[in-house]
Amino acid sequence: MKLYDRYPYEKQFEAQVLSCVPCDQGYDVILDQTLFFPEEGGQNCDRGTINGKEVTYVKIEDEMIHHYLQEPIEGKIQGEIDFAYRYNNMQNHSGEHILSGLIDRIYGYHNVGFHLGDHEITADYDAMLTKEQLVFIEQKVQQIIYENLPIHCFYPDDLQNIDYRSKKSIDGPLRIVEIPGVDCCACCAPHVKTTGEIGVFKIVKAIKHKQGMRIYFLCGQRAIEDYQKKHEQVTNISNLLSAPVYEVSCYVEKLLIDNNNLQQRIALLKKEMIERQCQSLPIKNIQIVFEEDLDRHLQQYYVNQLLLKCEEMAVVFVGDGDCYRFMLASYHDARAYLHVFQEHFEVKGGGKKDMVQGTIRATQQEIMQVFEK
Ligand SMILES: [Zn+2]
Repeated sequence: MKLYDRYPYEKQFEAQVLSCVPCDQGYDVILDQTLFFPEEGGQNCDRGTINGKEVTYVKIEDEMIHHYLQEPIEGKIQGEIDFAYRYNNMQNHSGEHILSGLIDRIYGYHNVGFHLGDHEITADYDAMLTKEQLVFIEQKVQQIIYENLPIHCFYPDDLQNIDYRSKKSIDGPLRIVEIPGVDCCACCAPHVKTTGEIGVFKIVKAIKHKQGMRIYFLCGQRAIEDYQKKHEQVTNISNLLSAPVYEVSCYVEKLLIDNNNLQQRIALLKKEMIERQCQSLPIKNIQIVFEEDLDRHLQQYYVNQLLLKCEEMAVVFVGDGDCYRFMLASYHDARAYLHVFQEHFEVKGGGKKDMVQGTIRATQQEIMQVFEK
């Protein structure tokens, strides 16, 4: 018997073990009655203990609820569910019914998927809502929460006169969850008694998904925890930037623009520095330069400038320790030098006759020894 159906607010229960069979996950236990909600309808299973031993997973198969434990049990047992976890799921599942019910009634879009997991909660719809519609629906859900309407779960004798939502056709007795004037939906999960208990509803993300959209949302305690974490982040950013909390994004945007301008200015100065350095060099057969930090664009510029000051070839190595990114330009055949590198070191790279590039695993000293030879 599904005790969670009738007593969603109970935390402890007694039951009789009907079977306890060893399996890959430990022991598969079936009881005559249980408060443990199994993984079903997109919702994770309950957590808790039986005789003080942790229940690692709960599933439903052919209307039988299987509890998994690491140790065998028998006879009469005492079970206890993690009620904080359960209550959280009840708040979020009830919140989803309001959201999907309102989207159905206001826009005529259907809920086609639901996942109530430990990391995220999502509901999928067969069409996309606009940004404005999302804001509107969020306020509507919150309004239904304030109205503190009853949430009624029941098995109807006659489905003829009930207009209900359902994602799939259901075999066996159908359980209906009704929120008057808001929603009527076939559902197997425990719910809170009144909409007020949901407390808070917040859409945290909405993305295009298949032909429609996926809404990520949070209710109750999970919404509060999310708010706390985000509030801490925003407050920290606000303090770091000395910016009012409601304007942090403008300040960050300005910071990014400033940073971009600075990067461009640095690149320009580096280019000037490269030019000056190359101008002061005497003409040599080979020119070799090691730099710690230089982007590819400037590295190419450097090697081209350097080539003007030599008769044979120019190489610019960028990096430190024992790994360098190189660009080698030559008046003859750059690929021949690449082969020489490859004879001595671990080298990845390639290129054309006038220029090769790649990475080399060697220290500056080791590379210079090869050049001296
Ligand atoms: Zn449901």
